[in-house]
Amino acid sequence: MDYESAAGNKSRLVPLKTTLEVETRDRVINVYVNAIPVKQASNALSIIRRLIPNDGGLDLQHLRRFVKYDDAPPHVRASISETRSLVTPGPENETPKELIFIAGSVDSISKESLIEGLSSISNPVCICSIQVPLLAPTSHEQAAFWTSRYWPTVYKKSNPFGPHPSIVSRAEEDINEDVEKWMALADGAAQEARATGSGEDIGVVIVTRKNGIARPVAIAGDARWLDWPHSSRGNVAAHATLRAIAMVADGLRARDEDQQGVSDITIPADTGIFRDQPRMPTEQCRSPIDDDGYLCHDLEIYCTHEPCVMCSMAIVHSRFGRVVFRRRMPSTGGLCSDGELGHGLFWRKELNWTLLAWHWSSGTDSIGTCGVESDLHA
Ligand SMILES: [Zn+2]
Repeated sequence: MDYESAAGNKSRLVPLKTTLEVETRDRVINVYVNAIPVKQASNALSIIRRLIPNDGGLDLQHLRRFVKYDDAPPHVRASISETRSLVTPGPENETPKELIFIAGSVDSISKESLIEGLSSISNPVCICSIQVPLLAPTSHEQAAFWTSRYWPTVYKKSNPFGPHPSIVSRAEEDINEDVEKWMALADGAAQEARATGSGEDIGVVIVTRKNGIARPVAIAGDARWLDWPHSSRGNVAAHATLRAIAMVADGLRARDEDQQGVSDITIPADTGIFRDQPRMPTEQCRSPIDDDGYLCHDLEIYCTHEPCVMCSMAIVHSRFGRVVFRRRMPSTGGLCSDGELGHGLFWRKELNWTLLAWHWSSGTDSIGTCGVESDLHA
């Protein structure tokens, strides 16, 4: 048991990257850059617009078009300098008050046509090709990294490949208020599951948040070993996440029956495969459900571990609004796009467009399994 080790370090919410963000983040293209006198900047742009209308169909707005010579990354300055020495043999020319600018993608024009087009404003024409990121950055950090590695890049506080940053930061304001409390409750359920031998050291809490007030509506520890042989993989329907969702469903059913005056004659307590009746003391500490809408619509779920693929899909299909987990499960987790499976089962148009996901990370100790086997499905 090592949950407390996280408490010493300040944990923080790290939004997960969507599959699109992961797939696109390293895509680069080759572009021609050219050094010109500062005074020729607008002429250069006019020429380029004529030679390569609409940038050849590429959106390069995340890249600075013009950069002062001294502000260009060292490898770009080196390329320009090398090209200059080839076209003007002899002592190196000075580079007073020059700009380096992106002319266009190497696929959109031939080098010869570009040299010919720019010869009226720059002599000699010092063109070389460099790599630049094809798509817009999705964070300040990414923009800063690309600026030093490729070319000055602008982050415009938008994310075409994931939830808009303003939606994420608004949600984080809510979650930061009480994430520690819900994780402690999830830990409690996990510890009871382990201590009683009914399940693995895994727990979850489902929370409803209305008008700034958050309440837990289901708390569940893992129960895969409850009346199940240890020689098997256990009762997969009794993973903590599925149990908690089943508790919500059962709560809604009981409420509806109550309202309709129907007596509860359906499932005797705790004999269902989902083990959807609270068993442990921690699991009793919940509020009644008063949410409307489909199953877990807009609810939040806090998990001690990154849920497996099955539980991740259950979270998606139950229409949760937010999911937060503490420990990544790199081999079996279904939420991360950069894990071994790479499914990234959140915020996907074809699944659940609105589900947001975070890793509540305390740094070094939050990668790994801590208390459970690395190949276990949480
Ligand atoms: Zn699971």
